[in-house]
Amino acid sequence: MSEQQPESIGRAWLDVVATARRSAADGLVVGTSGNVSARVGDLVLVTPSGVPYDRLGLRDAVGVDLEGRQVLGDLGPTSELPLHLAVYRSTGAAAVVHTHAVHATAVSTLVTEVPLVHYAAAILGGPVRTAAYARYGTPELAEAMLGALADRTGCLLANHGTVTYGDTLDQAYERTAQLEWLCRLWLTASSVPGRTPTLLDAAQLDEVTEALKGYGQPG
Ligand code: 13P
Ligand code: ZN
Repeated sequence: MSEQQPESIGRAWLDVVATARRSAADGLVVGTSGNVSARVGDLVLVTPSGVPYDRLGLRDAVGVDLEGRQVLGDLGPTSELPLHLAVYRSTGAAAVVHTHAVHATAVSTLVTEVPLVHYAAAILGGPVRTAAYARYGTPELAEAMLGALADRTGCLLANHGTVTYGDTLDQAYERTAQLEWLCRLWLTASSVPGRTPTLLDAAQLDEVTEALKGYGQPG
């Protein structure tokens, strides 16, 4: 990043890098799988394609506009740019996280919607859908993802991974972590021979959604 870049962009870039590193450290991605982005006004900061996250520094910032034109940096942007931009164009998201988290990806090969085994689904806006398979990096994948994201803040990508978004990088990341946990829970419960997990119904989930508005500390 050049010296002329506003400090806020530098800070946002370092947050993007820290989130990408965290996804690797937490085992949600292996190698250069996955990607992270954050929106600062009309600028979208994205991880570069195929570069290990521990090699990224302040000078490696990559930024594109909402049409995908590169306006910052020398490294090429993530191959999943269509997917990230589709989220920013159609939601108020300020951050997007894509991973290949193993339990979530396993579930994406099994169901078109994650069964409601836990109220944590409310964190993602309701039962999490699986977007139909399309090759990584394609507009077709971005389109399938948008359909699966309707009224949700996260979805699975069939035979591929997860996408979540949020108002902050921490919120988007937390949603990915919860989604991975939820998928691990369902795989665990549904693996018990001869038993089928009890599921929550829509009314129970609505009740949780209301209750969560007052969850945590006031303010
Ligand atoms: P990039 O290295 O291009 O971000 O691709 C990783 C990925 O997960 C593609 O789906
Ligand atoms: Zn991917």
